[in-house]
Amino acid sequence: MPSIPSNKPYRVGRSPTGLGLFATKPIKKGTKIIRYFGPLLDSKKKKDDAIENKYLFELNDRWTIDGSVRKNIARYINHACKPNAESDVRPRKRKVFIRAIKNIEPGEEINYDYGTDYFKAYLKPIGCKCAACEKKRKKQRAEARAEKARLKAKAERKALKKAEKLAKEKAKDQAKLKEKAERKSKNKLTLNGHSLNGKSLSSKSLSGKPRARKSLNAKSLNGKHLNGNSRVRVAGKKSAGGKPPVSAPALQAQPAAISVEAQPAAI
Ligand SMILES: [Zn+2]
Repeated sequence: MPSIPSNKPYRVGRSPTGLGLFATKPIKKGTKIIRYFGPLLDSKKKKDDAIENKYLFELNDRWTIDGSVRKNIARYINHACKPNAESDVRPRKRKVFIRAIKNIEPGEEINYDYGTDYFKAYLKPIGCKCAACEKKRKKQRAEARAEKARLKAKAERKALKKAEKLAKEKAKDQAKLKEKAERKSKNKLTLNGHSLNGKSLSSKSLSGKPRARKSLNAKSLNGKHLNGNSRVRVAGKKSAGGKPPVSAPALQAQPAAISVEAQPAAI
């Protein structure tokens, strides 16, 4: 660090971009803070014109200050897009002063605008690191984050809405299906009821008749009464011969009896 007399209102210190010049005392707006100085380069001289560094301060077409010398404390002043100081150029005197354009408080970094040419050549390619540009970038990042968050929230809201809509539609469909199923089962029940009734009616009416017929047939064909009658008739014919036969053994026994009986009659 270069030694600076204590009566000066500034010191060299660490800045976000390396080293910088900081106020150590309040500096009033309009005050000359420091002179930017160094060897004068004549553009008409080939040797001078060949010199290239970041600390060249062009006074006019011909004269340039080479501020790269260590004694030039003003070379520590960093560029800012919204500075608190400016370069006061006196081409005729071939002098440059840095002057406060705002009231500067102790601890504040002193800055001035290096100008468009320097900005384009050195700062734009790497991105200006001045407070204003950092603030702008921070704001832009915050805005980008906020926008991203907003879009995310929007997408989430949309997704939620969609899911809710789908769920609603599903529920509606299910309710419809349930209703349909219930209606169907109700119809089935009523149909079943009718068919059961119908069947029971028809089975009664249908099977009632066959049963009746069957029973009639059964009665008429195998019935005891009819058989009984026929037997009775048969037995009756036989009984006309003077026998009291009702049972089968009696029928079996009859021929013998008849033949026995008939034989004497033939004889
Ligand atoms: Zn900037």
